[in-house]
Amino acid sequence: MAEPQNFMRVADPSPKRTLYTDAMEIFHRAADTIGLAPRVRLELEEPDYEHIFYVTAKLKDRLRPLHPEAARSFGDLPVTQVRDPNGLERLADGQILLNGKALLGSDVMIRRGHLRLADGGVYQLIPGESQRFKAYRVQHNQARGPYKGGIRYHREVSLDLFKALAAEMTWKTAIAEVPFGGGKGGIQIDPRQYGKEELEAITLRFMYKLKRLIGPNIDIPAPDVGTNGEIMALMMRQYLDGESERHVGRAIVTGKDVRIGGSEGRVKATGQGVIYCIEDYYADRGETLKGKTFSVQGFGNVGSNAAEIMAGLGGRLLAVNDSDGTVFNPDGIDVAALLAYVSDPKNLKRSVAGFPGAQKIEKKDFWEVPTEVLIPAALGGEITGEIAEKLKCKLIAEGANGPTTPEADRVLLKRGIDLIPDIIANAGGVTVSYYEWIQNKRMESWTEAEVNAKLEHALKRNYRIIRDISRNNPRKTEMHDSRPFTVGKQVEPRLAAMILALKRIEAHYIIEGFSQ
Ligand code: NAD
Repeated sequence: MAEPQNFMRVADPSPKRTLYTDAMEIFHRAADTIGLAPRVRLELEEPDYEHIFYVTAKLKDRLRPLHPEAARSFGDLPVTQVRDPNGLERLADGQILLNGKALLGSDVMIRRGHLRLADGGVYQLIPGESQRFKAYRVQHNQARGPYKGGIRYHREVSLDLFKALAAEMTWKTAIAEVPFGGGKGGIQIDPRQYGKEELEAITLRFMYKLKRLIGPNIDIPAPDVGTNGEIMALMMRQYLDGESERHVGRAIVTGKDVRIGGSEGRVKATGQGVIYCIEDYYADRGETLKGKTFSVQGFGNVGSNAAEIMAGLGGRLLAVNDSDGTVFNPDGIDVAALLAYVSDPKNLKRSVAGFPGAQKIEKKDFWEVPTEVLIPAALGGEITGEIAEKLKCKLIAEGANGPTTPEADRVLLKRGIDLIPDIIANAGGVTVSYYEWIQNKRMESWTEAEVNAKLEHALKRNYRIIRDISRNNPRKTEMHDSRPFTVGKQVEPRLAAMILALKRIEAHYIIEGFSQ
C-alpha cells in the first residue's frame, strides 16, 4: 500500500507547455508590446466556452482485406459473385463497405467469416456495430461578432488543439476586418475509414447535439481539414430541418455548394488569398510571380488551389508533399495534370503519391528543395526548429493554421527567411465565408469577379497595414491607414499581425465596455 502523503502539494512553478500555450506565446508578446488592458487580456487568454460531447452512430457491415499471408489458408475459397457491385463502397484504407443489401441475391461463399471477391482478395466480414466519437466546439471570443470557425474531422484532434485554432480565428477575423469572433471544432475521426452514408449519419448526429450551441447569429461553422461543402450541406439540413423559416437560416454554415446558397469563389478562397498575399509581397519589391519557383505541403483544398492559381500567374511548382507521399520535378510540375491525377476517382487516397509527371522523394528531402516560396498547407506544427534550419526557401506563406512552431519562428528570423503569417495569409477563407453569410442574409448572389475583387482589396489592404506595423512605417495611402497601429519600433511580421488583431479587438472592449 502506498504511504500516506502528509506534505503539501506545491504548484509547479513552470506551467505545462501545450500546443495552446505555445500558440498563445505570440499573443502575450503582442499584449505586452501594446500594453493591452489587463482585463481584456484575461478575456482573451482563455476561450469563452469549451464544449466536449459525444456522438454515436451505427456502422455498416464491412469487408476487411486479409493480408496475403493470412489469405493463403483460404486458397480454395471460391469467388463470391456479387450481383450488385454498386453496393460495394471501397474506402481509402482498403476496406469495403456493404451498402444497402449488397450481397442479396448473390452466390455468397463464406468460410469462417471470410469471403473472396472477384479481385482475388480474401476479406473478413465485420458485422456493423455502433461506435462513439468524441466531438468538440470551442467558442473563443465574440467581442467583434458571432463565433466563426471550421469543423475538422481528423484522428489527431484534442481540446488543446481546438482551443489554439479557435483563438487563431479570433485574431484572423479581426485582421480580415470581418465582424466575427473565433471558434473551432470537429470530431475525432479518420473520415477515410468511413463510408458516405456513415459520414452522413455521424454528421447529422453531430449537428443534432451542436444545434443548441450555435446559430446564424451565434456561431457559424465552415469546412476545415477532412470536411467539405457536402458535410456543410448535411449540417445545414439538420440544423434547419422542419424550421418554418428555414430559407433565411442558410447562414448557419458557410462553405456550402453554390447551388444551395454557397458563395462563388468560396472553394478557392483560402488558396486565392494566400496568392494575393504572395503577389503583394513581391509587388512591394517591384516583382511579379512570373518564374518564381515554389513548393507546397498539403494538396487538399488550400494547397491545390494555391498551386493552381500561382502556376496560372507564372509560378513554377517544384515539389509537393502530402500525407501519403512526396513528388518532385526540377523542371516544374504540371499542376493541371497533378490536379487531374489527385481527383481521379481511382485515386482513393486523393494523394499526389505515384504521380507519373514527377519523381518520388522522401518527406525529409521535401524541406530542402530550393525554391523562392514554400506554402505549408497541411497541418500545424510541421515546420519545427530543426526543419527551419534546413529550409532552402526565401519566403514562407502559411496556408495552414500554425504550421510553424515558435522555435522555428526564431530560426527563420535568424536565417532571414521571410514569413507571411497564417492569420493574414489564409484569411481568404473566412473573408469569403463572411461574404457568403451576407449573401444568405440578403438573399443575394454575387459573381466570382465581385467576390474576388472584394477579397483582393481586403487582404492586400490589411497585409499592407501589417507590413507597415512590422517596419514601423505609419502612413495613410488611398488603400490603407496604418497610423493607428504602428508601435514606435520595428517588429517581426507575426507579432505585427497579432498587434493589428489585438488593437481591433481591444477597441470593442474599450468603447463598448463590458456588460458586467
Ligand atoms: P484538406 O483536408 O483539404 O487537405 C489537407 C492536405 O494536407 C491533404 O493533402 C493531406 O494529405 C495533407 N496532410 C495531412 N497531414 C499531413 C502530414 N502529416 N504531412 C503532409 N501532408 C499532410 O484540408 P484544407 O482545407 O486544405 O486545410 C489545410 C490547412 O489549411 C489546415 O491547416 C487548415 O486548418 C487550413 N485552413 C483551411 C481553410 C479552408 O478554407 N479550407 C481556411 C484556413 C485555413
